[in-house]
Amino acid sequence: MTNDKDWHPATRLVHGGTTRSAFNETSEALFLTQGFVYPDAESAEARFNGEDPGFVYSRYANPTVSMFEERMCLLEGAGAARATASGMAAVTSALLASVKAGDHIVAAKALFGSCRYVAETVLPRFGVEATMVDGANLDEWKAAVRPNTRVMFLESPTNPTLDIVDIAAVADIAHEAGARLVVDNVFATALWQSPLALGADVVVYSATKHIDGQGRCLGGVVLSDEEWIEKEFHPFYKHTGPSMSPFNAWVMLKGLETLPMRIERQTQSAGRIADFLAENKAVTRLIYPGRDDHPQAAVAKKQMRGGSTLVAFELAGGKEAAFRFCNALEIVRISNNLGDAKSLICHPATTTHQSVPETDRLELGINGGVLRLSVGLEDAGDLLNDIEHALAAI
Ligand SMILES: *Cc1c(COP(=O)(O)O)cnc(C)c1O
Repeated sequence: MTNDKDWHPATRLVHGGTTRSAFNETSEALFLTQGFVYPDAESAEARFNGEDPGFVYSRYANPTVSMFEERMCLLEGAGAARATASGMAAVTSALLASVKAGDHIVAAKALFGSCRYVAETVLPRFGVEATMVDGANLDEWKAAVRPNTRVMFLESPTNPTLDIVDIAAVADIAHEAGARLVVDNVFATALWQSPLALGADVVVYSATKHIDGQGRCLGGVVLSDEEWIEKEFHPFYKHTGPSMSPFNAWVMLKGLETLPMRIERQTQSAGRIADFLAENKAVTRLIYPGRDDHPQAAVAKKQMRGGSTLVAFELAGGKEAAFRFCNALEIVRISNNLGDAKSLICHPATTTHQSVPETDRLELGINGGVLRLSVGLEDAGDLLNDIEHALAAI
């Protein structure tokens, strides 16, 4: 057997982290149990005081959840991981486990709506101030540093306008300030971007998106080096309880097996759709990280190995045109999920970013004509026909 360190991602995602029960089942076993029994009282004592590393309670760790965490570590090149009930549980616990009252964080303004709420509204309630910066402007990151800055937080590409933040450059600024960089890698996926290798300290995912990839379960995961996960994050996780259910971990494990083929196909189709939209007169702005006309194409090339499964574009005619386009689509469905096998379109200004004040929304480039398309696994020709027909209907 070859060493799993030499395996390519596709192999790791099929075999990595598998531990078999006494029955030697082929597929990963689903351990739907809250707790574990001990042969005697002495064994229970040893489990609780850490002398015996076995399982204690599924809020702390569970064999199915551990398999998912181990497989994610192999994919990400991380030392350790903890799976959470949702992407927001991952983001919130990663941030809360890193700060205390009196600390300061710096975050990019272009964040998934709920992440922005946690940074701007939740953390300040507990005495942690947040400075929001334009992620693409490195001078703003530098200028925001204070003596008590503990964390920097960003996502790249961003939701929904697919802006790119230079992860290595922000990691340098964070480390110089004595802070840690947390990266939300949902839009890029682990296949196309490795934030830890670029200098980030913590990576978080909403597994709800590409990792499940078939729209079934919520989930999340926090990955970092073993020391931080075990010493800093695990006590917070174990006692506050954002844990993933074993059932969801089992669904996510099966999702990981097909992740590379799904991402490759969805990215390929998204690239074709982006090229098609770029040539259409009804489209006034087209943003796709795999294209040379992306505003930060050079940074994208430097830190990403592939494009994106998402395409952002703006239609002439604002909200009215955008709504008519969405309503005319027959294959692509209107929904706010992403990374799904089904192609999904979302009008951020009236849905995911409805609660963001209009001035902030416009500053982020999210006007009424902007749409975010998550490209699924349908035949790319069928999708192009659907989009062409809907553009004609505007
Ligand atoms: C969806 C998403 C989240 C939140 O994940 P949930 O699983 O919905 O809680 C966080 N960040 C990004 C970038 C997302 O797309």
